[in-house]
Amino acid sequence: MTPPAIVFTDWDGTVTLQDSNDYLTENIGFGRPKRLEINDDILDGKISFRDGFRKMLDSITTPFPECIEYLLKHIKLDPGFKEFYQWCAAEGIPVIVVSSGMKPIIYALLENLVGEEAIKNIEIMSNDVVENHPSAPGGWEIIYKDPESDFGHDKSKSIREYLAKNGYTDSSKLPLMFYCGDGVSDLSAAKETDLLFAKHGKDLIKYCIREGIPYTEFNSFADIFAKTKAIVNAGGANIKDYIEN
Ligand SMILES: [Mg+2]
Repeated sequence: MTPPAIVFTDWDGTVTLQDSNDYLTENIGFGRPKRLEINDDILDGKISFRDGFRKMLDSITTPFPECIEYLLKHIKLDPGFKEFYQWCAAEGIPVIVVSSGMKPIIYALLENLVGEEAIKNIEIMSNDVVENHPSAPGGWEIIYKDPESDFGHDKSKSIREYLAKNGYTDSSKLPLMFYCGDGVSDLSAAKETDLLFAKHGKDLIKYCIREGIPYTEFNSFADIFAKTKAIVNAGGANIKDYIEN
């Protein structure tokens, strides 16, 4: 049966309150000023997200298992996510995490913050890590899902992969599709769905305004929940009411 909707979501800074990679870079890597410098260069198009992100991760010399331990202690879940995810599960709406982060970190946080059953119900499409890399600064290195892409992970490609894999071959018969994100890496997915939820005060909104990409703002998953529910209940007829740009 075709679900009423499909929700694709970024992980870091969207489902979680803090971006785990930024958190590692700022606290046990080269620190906040240097991270912001690279972030500005990415936003200004001076360096690709893929290469800038790798520089940040290369500044972390802590072994990977210790990085996970550290994140489990500090990273918090968006307070509205659990309720939203449970509603999606009850309505048969798939939730897919589409992330530039590394798979083992996302699994560990998802299990810890949302619960064991979330691992089975939420598909994760993300970058990965090689943990036994002797010449890397911390003995580990990110493996990009789409190394040829400037984003390292081309999220639009993952969304199309998901649709093809699940038999959505007729583009005129697609369920309502939503994407939730906060940062530069989400730009690669911004145009792929019916509605883009962009986090208040974050880089994705700046980018959407600059590029003229339609979006609707959110502060937490409680906003996403309310809007998604209203749109799904109306069968998508009211979706234009939510577009802000
Ligand atoms: Mg993010």
